[in-house]
Amino acid sequence: MTDFAGLNLAQPILRALSDEGYTTPTPIQEKSIPPLLEGRDLLGVAQTGTGKTASFALPILQSFAENSRKAVPNRPFVLILAPTRELVTQIAESLRTYGRQMPLRIQTVFGGTSMRNQIVAMQRGVHILVATPGRLMDLMKQRHVNLDSVDVFVLDEADRMLDMGFIGDVKRIAKVLPHERQTVLFSATMPKTVEGLANELLNDPVKVEVTPAATTVEKIEQRLLFVAKDDKRALLGELMNDPRIERVLIFTRTKHGADRVARHLHDNGVKSDAIHGNKAQNARQRALKGFRDGDIRALVATDIAARGIDVDGVTHVINFDLPNDAESYVHRIGRTARAGASGIAISFCAHDERGCLRDIEKCIRQPVPVFAGHPYHAADIANSAANDSGPDVRKNNGGGGGRNGQGRGGPSRGGPSGGGAKRGGGRSRRGSQGGNRGMAA
Ligand code: AMP
Repeated sequence: MTDFAGLNLAQPILRALSDEGYTTPTPIQEKSIPPLLEGRDLLGVAQTGTGKTASFALPILQSFAENSRKAVPNRPFVLILAPTRELVTQIAESLRTYGRQMPLRIQTVFGGTSMRNQIVAMQRGVHILVATPGRLMDLMKQRHVNLDSVDVFVLDEADRMLDMGFIGDVKRIAKVLPHERQTVLFSATMPKTVEGLANELLNDPVKVEVTPAATTVEKIEQRLLFVAKDDKRALLGELMNDPRIERVLIFTRTKHGADRVARHLHDNGVKSDAIHGNKAQNARQRALKGFRDGDIRALVATDIAARGIDVDGVTHVINFDLPNDAESYVHRIGRTARAGASGIAISFCAHDERGCLRDIEKCIRQPVPVFAGHPYHAADIANSAANDSGPDVRKNNGGGGGRNGQGRGGPSRGGPSGGGAKRGGGRSRRGSQGGNRGMAA
């Protein structure tokens, strides 16, 4: 495997990477950076967590290192489109981190926040503009952004763009870009619609692909906890007594659910916050910052808000509610296995979520090991899930324990919060519960 120095990147970039502690390119970086440096178009199939941001960020920075240009008012040289404000912010942060030794102006543009600052920044001139499509269109209509000078165009998370209804805007934006340009499209999945968009936008692209869903999942220890709906919050409170859960991302299905869970945790002395679409932009940023800085131990999120959250050192992901869509499960639990790290994913499954569970297990092509040694274990739900689960899953379950028993991820591996060294640390507030051995109690 090459190191970054072998990719012929400029010294200021190499120094910034080394400051970050990055020595070796991730697979997507290794495959994408050389053709991008040659100026090729690229179609990348990769999820967040693979290091895809640096795959396109580093070649962009390299082009400025080779050809330093003065920023021109309202006319960026590089346009990066992403579906959510969080992702836009993160991409800009990555660019600033990797490009911190270069005199570049990197500007974000997204809705839900005042236009004023964005307009002023555009007037001063920016080299790289990172934007969500809606706000960018607004600024273009008001002639604060002109895309005539764009020579690199990146579309990140194209599949999510389409899911969120941005396709029209994306096409309108692409239409006004110069024909002579380099185009990069990244997507976690490649449904027909994204393929169509890629055909329209890209010119003889290099195709790179990494980490199909099931591979990411393999690095993550998964646990399934059957629990009655009404017991979920109490179970979560119990789990949070485990000090091994240092930084946890908790997923709920609804925005109100996220607020309720965050409040419950807060009332139980766990530093927590919620992040979802109903929250004002600055509240979301504050929550993310608190989480990243370690001031907040538990961040409760809905799927859309969490998409693209890039926080290192997430020790656990808890699915308070299972997602309706199986691919979201993979995205969610992937938050705890960033760039090669491993992590632990704990999923609650209530009676009405058995169908979701079935879909998830089909998607990841393996059963999620059951942990039954918790005080709220609902044997009836476990039994009916066992009867529900398709023949494939049951066959793979190795016959041991099935849905009812401790399964492979049971207390023998140290409880739901993870096996290993510190087993038995922490204390249960509920005192000794039957079958509570594994909960680090
Ligand atoms: P991304 O898929 O772009 O969201 O990146 C996922 C995470 O991996 C981010 O936290 C990056 O800071 C980190 N990362 C990116 N490239 C590398 C690398 N070559 N070595 C180690 N970490 C990396």
